[in-house]
Amino acid sequence: MKEIHEGDHLICTDINHYSFCPRFLFYEHCLTGIRPRTGMMDIGKEEHEEEEFRAKRRTFTAYEVAEGEREFRVRLYSPKWRLVGILDELVKTPDGRLYPVEYKFSSTVRDPHRLQLAGYGMLIQEQFGVDVPHGFIYLIPKKKAVKVPLGEARYAEIQAILTQMWTIIEQEQIPPPTPDRAKCASCEFRRFCNDV
Ligand code: SF4
Repeated sequence: MKEIHEGDHLICTDINHYSFCPRFLFYEHCLTGIRPRTGMMDIGKEEHEEEEFRAKRRTFTAYEVAEGEREFRVRLYSPKWRLVGILDELVKTPDGRLYPVEYKFSSTVRDPHRLQLAGYGMLIQEQFGVDVPHGFIYLIPKKKAVKVPLGEARYAEIQAILTQMWTIIEQEQIPPPTPDRAKCASCEFRRFCNDV
């Protein structure tokens, strides 16, 4: 059993990775320091930074609001779930609504993206005390914002996932491999998974 300390936390990106393959969580939190840094990580970071500059010039119509304000790299935290996140963009409307926007270097919105966004939505609800019924994934290659429904059912799902994630970390139990073995071919953790 691993002892969980006061400062231990998960990040919203962990939800994304866990959804892609549950073993990512084990390798990143129970066998820390083994993750190789890949070129794609550096490209992704650079694209995010460039996108922030471009976003400052965009109108709000892509987010279905006439006007508003935006904040970038917003820090979010839930002491209850020991979950933190740095959101790419937070859209604020004049009547007090808040929408999370996450940038992805992808041409489609995938389930791990949706779950990561739901993590941010849940954190915004908890931190600012407002309902967050939807958010947006901004697909960088397509220059397109895709609306993603969130809401209570999605947040309940995130809470169930977070409970599973903390159980894996506490019990230091390696989860089964992803059933979609096509993911393993280019996985950065491939050399640690001897059973796939
Ligand atoms: S090699 Fe396959 S099972 Fe192992 S971590 Fe990667 S995706 Fe998951």
